[in-house]
Amino acid sequence: MPTRHSPPPTQSKVFDVCIVGSGAGGGMAAYSLTQAGANVIVLEAGGPWDNRTDSAMLTWPYESPRRGASTPERPFGEFDACIGGWDIPGEPYTRAPGTDFRWWRARMVGGRTNHWGRISLRFGPYDFKRKTRDGLGDDWPIVYEDVAPWYDRLDRLVGIFGSKESLPNEPDGVFQPPPKPRCYELLVKQAADRLHVTCIPARLSILTRPLPGRPACHYCGQCNRGCKTNSNFTSTNVLIAPALATGKLTLVTNAMAREVTVDAAGRATGVAYVDKTTGTDQHVRAKVVVLAASACESARLLLNSRSTLFPNGLANGSGTVGKYITDTTGTDVAGFIPKLMDHVPHNHDGVGGMHLYMPWWLDNSKLDFPRGYHIEVWGGRGMPGYGFMGGIHRYPSGGGYGKQLKADYRHYYGATIGFSGRGEMIPNDDCYCELDPRQVDRWGIPVLRFHWKWTDHEYKQVKHMQETFRALVAELGGEVFSPMPTAERGYGIAAGGTIIHELGGTRMGDDPKASVVNRWGQAHEVKNLFVADGGPFVSQADKNPTWTILALSMRTSDYIADQMKKGAL
Ligand SMILES: Cc1cc2nc3c(=O)[nH]c(=O)nc-3n(C[C@H](O)[C@H](O)[C@H](O)COP(=O)(O)OP(=O)(O)OC[C@H]3O[C@@H](n4cnc5c(N)ncnc54)[C@H](O)[C@@H]3O)c2cc1C
Ligand code: SF4
Repeated sequence: MPTRHSPPPTQSKVFDVCIVGSGAGGGMAAYSLTQAGANVIVLEAGGPWDNRTDSAMLTWPYESPRRGASTPERPFGEFDACIGGWDIPGEPYTRAPGTDFRWWRARMVGGRTNHWGRISLRFGPYDFKRKTRDGLGDDWPIVYEDVAPWYDRLDRLVGIFGSKESLPNEPDGVFQPPPKPRCYELLVKQAADRLHVTCIPARLSILTRPLPGRPACHYCGQCNRGCKTNSNFTSTNVLIAPALATGKLTLVTNAMAREVTVDAAGRATGVAYVDKTTGTDQHVRAKVVVLAASACESARLLLNSRSTLFPNGLANGSGTVGKYITDTTGTDVAGFIPKLMDHVPHNHDGVGGMHLYMPWWLDNSKLDFPRGYHIEVWGGRGMPGYGFMGGIHRYPSGGGYGKQLKADYRHYYGATIGFSGRGEMIPNDDCYCELDPRQVDRWGIPVLRFHWKWTDHEYKQVKHMQETFRALVAELGGEVFSPMPTAERGYGIAAGGTIIHELGGTRMGDDPKASVVNRWGQAHEVKNLFVADGGPFVSQADKNPTWTILALSMRTSDYIADQMKKGAL
């Protein structure tokens, strides 16, 4: 049982809804439910943040002696907007022997949406029905058409650029115009066309046309630092801020949820949490509880909410809480492209991300692995930061000193192009999280222990990525510095969790014996308990997941508002 030294003091007010977490899922739930008139409280484990005042968007690297290099709480660089990382002091997680899994967590209002790449892809019709198509994994209990209206509303509310392509499994959205390709991206497009790899404008939630209160992007290319003009999407400034403006939202920061409490009838009564500033236990009461602490953390909360009624954890009668977790498969290849050397210095800015990408383009019946991947493209002459293109010693001159070194930097700068594959993993029985029976965090809350094993499906897919990226670099007339990774090295597959797209753990389904929540994200066993992050995902798809987390959270919130109106919750 979770360790608690004394029962937490219960606050007298009863909120309509208590949401745990303020990232993509929690922020959208807070926005939608306050718009619907509900009195909402959000418990957020991290501290406050406001892009308008806190972002380092306009800071020059030379303003810091670190030149932007990473810090323990900002692994992506000291100017990065997102506070969190692979290791959070006092909040460990463990791995079963032989498991290679890393868990990236944010601790701040807005969660990981303060940094994310804003690649905003809808799942397609095939993605919801994969088992029907290839017999592997499971189908979702819903189809694309069930989510499409919420994707449309999301596109209009948040803003996304892209192009209409009419591809079968890459649904078009309500797009703003995409930015033009940069110089190196034009070369990539030509090479991709020659190799018959589909290459189209990227789909990112960054404004190229203004929306109310948010100007269009001015192409400074610093999205990961937080946008002072809020021209890109963060939960913090695009969802939580307007929710606060309704006067219906109480936002409690530095509030680490410990467990969901229940009454004798098995209904959720609220959430017990630790006030991190004082270290004291607190309890908030609510008619409905929405978990959106990120997929694995929401599973952890349920597993830690044990009682005589729910001895295996709340809503865990099926025994599937923590099961069927997935991450995107990934590997990268960068190439040195001599024809990009000695480039005329020119403005290569744009949005803080790629202007082109390559959706999955092949037919699996002709391949030795199921499912697919998309390709993300990087390179160019953005503002230099800490480090130099993987190290100047790897380039033909081999590095040096003084004037020659400076000349070499100018010579080679911007002559690298990289490709990152992001593919679909199929859930398997060896990938799950559970409570570690021995380890607790600094507040005495049991931590998660991860188990992870890739299968041949993923290894073969990643091998194909490596071969494709090397063919693209060769087509560009370039040279790859690293040799093709061997089968023993898993063809260069990134460790589980490192692509930071973890999903599942509270998957949805029509069968309460095989799933945790129903098609609305509502726990089968606890009517007034919902999950609104990546936990309910049944499969991963070869898409980055956040656009679907946001659409599903909006859909779940509309359902909650409707059910509350009908007195059914
Ligand atoms: C570097 C990077 C790049 C990415 N790029 C993309 C991309 O291009 N496209 C894409 O689709 N996705 C991307 N992602 C993933 C994306 O950020 C996540 O899918 C998304 O943020 C998940 O939303 P969430 O609400 O589940 O979790 P989060 O956004 O992580 O929010 C969870 C919140 O819950 C809080 N919390 C956790 N535990 C507790 C607790 N016990 N009590 C109270 N609060 C708690 C956390 O502090 C956090 O604020 C990227 C992520 C990273 C880090
Ligand atoms: S590139 Fe555009 S959206 Fe990104 S930080 Fe700069 S102005 Fe904002």
